[in-house]
Amino acid sequence: MAQEDVFKKIVSHSKEYGFVFPSSEIYDGLAAVYDYGQNGVELKNNIKQYWWQSMVLLHENIVGIDSSIFMHPTIWKASGHVDAFNDPLIDNRDSKKRYRADVLIEDQIAKYDEKINKEVAKAAKRFGDSFDEAKYRATSQKLIEDTEKRNALHERYKSAMNANDLDELKQIILDEGIVDPIGGTRNWTDVRQFNLMFSTEMGSTSEGSMKVYLRPETAQGIFVNFLNVQKTGRMKIPFGIAQIGKAFRNEIVARQFIFRMREFEQMEMQFFVRPGTEIEWFKKWKEIRMKWHEALGFGSENYRFHDHEKLAHYANAATDIEFKMPFGFKEVEGIHSRTDFDLSQHEKFSGKSIKYFDPELNESYTPYDIETSIGVDRMFLSVMCGAYTEETLENGETRVVLKLPAQLAPVKLAILPLVKKDGLAEKALDIRNELKFHFNCQYDEKDSIGKRYRRQDAIGTPYCVTVDHQTLEDNTVTLRNRDTMEQIRVAVPELNGLLHDKVSIIGLLKTLQ
Ligand code: ATP
Repeated sequence: MAQEDVFKKIVSHSKEYGFVFPSSEIYDGLAAVYDYGQNGVELKNNIKQYWWQSMVLLHENIVGIDSSIFMHPTIWKASGHVDAFNDPLIDNRDSKKRYRADVLIEDQIAKYDEKINKEVAKAAKRFGDSFDEAKYRATSQKLIEDTEKRNALHERYKSAMNANDLDELKQIILDEGIVDPIGGTRNWTDVRQFNLMFSTEMGSTSEGSMKVYLRPETAQGIFVNFLNVQKTGRMKIPFGIAQIGKAFRNEIVARQFIFRMREFEQMEMQFFVRPGTEIEWFKKWKEIRMKWHEALGFGSENYRFHDHEKLAHYANAATDIEFKMPFGFKEVEGIHSRTDFDLSQHEKFSGKSIKYFDPELNESYTPYDIETSIGVDRMFLSVMCGAYTEETLENGETRVVLKLPAQLAPVKLAILPLVKKDGLAEKALDIRNELKFHFNCQYDEKDSIGKRYRRQDAIGTPYCVTVDHQTLEDNTVTLRNRDTMEQIRVAVPELNGLLHDKVSIIGLLKTLQ
């Protein structure tokens, strides 16, 4: 199946099974804003819990906060967001569609890459075992020309972005003959900068009101609370502050479902270290964070680092963790060595000293910061993409199963009476009432047992318990495994102990140690 079709199926599956709904759907929706349904919210909460506990429970020197969405507007001046949190936008006069100029050019570079890779793959097929890729790349005249063209475009694009040269970005689009992906024409406007922050008014009267922003990242709430936490928590460097919360960006082009939203949620951790040790910590955090992703079991081949070529002026190292979505490897998390930029800026703009006194060195300094920043919604999307599976069974039927890590699954256990009568329903409800204190259970008595299993497969429930006539005699049930579909007979009092380690976040956390 084409990857595009797989993605479409994931989007419709998410809706059909109560994971993600378009916002305000009965009013035809609101672009790039989504709601999480009854299963989505459970999965999302489990992702957040996995992240939070891996930070705050597993690290004695990391604590959490929950700062507000509205903050003093000067914070965004200090952080650089008022002046520089921009994307270059371009409109097509014919289709009236708006695009990000940088994305149009990056897509063009990706097209060259695709062409080059296709040529190499074709040659590999032609030459078979004797194929020497390096030699082919160095000698095929066509490939050399294509690679040169691609690299020249890349260099030109990089310099235009670094110099913030909007005219040059437009010229690249014209020179490359890039057409509107929807309308197909080249009738482009000039490129303009567009600030991504949403703003609103705070205060009751028009004279007394103040322009405030909806935070575009949660990080600044951590920086401005640095001293509060350090002092009241008696924190010693190195230490971290973690936070989960909403962020808002007026994205020019919101595409790919919950990959790019206008309202989304971030899980950010700022780790403060001694100046000079930041690159060592940056490397450590890269390792820790990759391990966190890989522990979910989707296969390490589906993750990669993408080191930034263009560093923000305040960063001295930056990388993304990318996940292989059906539409290619895409950023899920960013890890940035942000130096002392943010704390120093807030010191400058607020006029208050934000220094740390290091008792071991007997000196005060502005700590350096390593940031790990991951989008909850993008993580959610990567989990759905990794889990969505269509299987053909031995009897020729297909089943759709979400192979979610059991610890993240919305429902851990479905409790199903084989039939409603003969006291089986009552027995099943007794079991549910006992186990509901331990994990999220779902009772279902409607339709055939086969249909009920499929419904649970479709929402990723890792285990199903079936209560049958034998249960009434010996207090045992069948326990069905979602992935293998194997069933074993288990005594009811053993269910909790048997499942606890398999479905609890603790099991995942232990693999990180
Ligand atoms: P992109 O280049 O995709 O716009 P970014 O580099 O601007 O992302 P950061 O500012 O580093 O992203 O934000 C950290 C994380 O927040 C990202 O890795 C991503 O998971 C998430 N994120 C950022 N913007 C959005 C968005 N519009 N919708 C959903 N998640 C987002």
